[in-house]
Amino acid sequence: MNVLVLGSGGREHALVWKLRESQLTDDIFCAPGNAGIAQVAECFPVDLTSPAAMLQLAGELKADLTVAGPEAPLVAGVVDEFERAGRGIVGPTQAAAQLEGSKAFAKEFMLRNGIPTARFAVVEDYATGVKFLSEFGLPVVIKADGLAAGKGVVVARTREEAEKALDDFMIQKSLGSAGDRVVMEECLVGEELSFIVLAGKRGWLPLVPTQDHKAVFDDDRGPNTGGMGAYSDDSILPERLRKDILHKVIEPTLAGMAAEGMPYYGFLYCGLMMTEEGPKVLEYNVRLGDPETQPIMMRLRSDLSEILMASLEGQLAALGARWSPNPSVCVVLASKGYPGRSETGKVITGIEAAESRGGVKIFHAGTAFRDQQLLTAGGRVLGVTAIAEDLPTTIEQAYAAVSKVHFDGMHYRRDIGAKGLRRLKLTREIHHPDNQAGNPPPA
Ligand code: AMP
Repeated sequence: MNVLVLGSGGREHALVWKLRESQLTDDIFCAPGNAGIAQVAECFPVDLTSPAAMLQLAGELKADLTVAGPEAPLVAGVVDEFERAGRGIVGPTQAAAQLEGSKAFAKEFMLRNGIPTARFAVVEDYATGVKFLSEFGLPVVIKADGLAAGKGVVVARTREEAEKALDDFMIQKSLGSAGDRVVMEECLVGEELSFIVLAGKRGWLPLVPTQDHKAVFDDDRGPNTGGMGAYSDDSILPERLRKDILHKVIEPTLAGMAAEGMPYYGFLYCGLMMTEEGPKVLEYNVRLGDPETQPIMMRLRSDLSEILMASLEGQLAALGARWSPNPSVCVVLASKGYPGRSETGKVITGIEAAESRGGVKIFHAGTAFRDQQLLTAGGRVLGVTAIAEDLPTTIEQAYAAVSKVHFDGMHYRRDIGAKGLRRLKLTREIHHPDNQAGNPPPA
């Protein structure tokens, strides 16, 4: 079987790495890929917003199975294009991908189907938005309707901040047409977690739970990023809560999409807030998370291509998946300036030394190979990922590996997994070398 992975980040590197272990795959390709992926799979350039271009490439590569990493190809309709041509692909159709492509669609869908979420209003113009502010109180959450690469959500603590967000999105058009409509919602309080399932043609499979770290600095300070790290540990989700999520969120979501004529297939990511009233959906993503995929793939013991094929063939429920009971942790190493304009072209060293320990894998995101050197080529550069027998040891090993890697301006969060330690009522001092140019001094 030939497999094509679409995308170019750490998530895609983790998928390709896992697919490499499969007994069922002959060739694995990636488009467009990155320097790390190119070491294990042949990479090809492709326009991720052009379904026709992706289908043509899959045809040329005789790909039996394609999996899309990011949302852009899905929202552009790559699955519809492949299905018309009878070529296997894992992911939702364009109609189903609206769950991520339009926050207003997602919220109205949840309301219709009784899926718990924050109270909200969809507004079409600035004046109406301002009028609604008093209904929600403060803080209030202002979200651009369309895709905004993580920049479309503002948690406004003051009326001024809320008005500014409405102005930025709706009048200044800071996100283009993504801000034509805005969702305003009540601010929820609780702990966030990510729950991802793979929905097949018949049946679905929950993946292990993860917790992401969106803010750039320790203790969730600073602006939001695409994700500065994630960890997976079964202790994140006690069985009772897990059942709650399955019954109140996952089942009604999949049943609702089917009943509304948009059956959902592929990875479905639910960003959840665990409130005092139970889990509530913050957002849906129609794909795997990045960096959540990296720790998830570290724990997966089953054959990934077998799981993906089973999802297409309606065999998922029968197959199931096997997971390592051990926790995994991914620390993202970012370029100076990230999540703003970031430096690129810096020489990266130490990857081999960092990976020399068992249980450590470094997934590439923004990297490029030029003139015999590995260079930084984006904001998020590497995901240093470890798996070990317990959470404190895993965190320690991930940071021990981090200490071996260097590039100018490198910064990272030093508290990935710390919420998990607090939950387990554990603490552990981790030694951090002094190589965090982009981070503020510790509080
Ligand atoms: P989203 O892209 O909708 O997940 O929003 C990005 C981040 O904003 C989330 O991960 C939360 O940290 C925060 N957020 C979004 N919606 C809410 C809400 N209703 N209440 C509190 N925080 C929220």
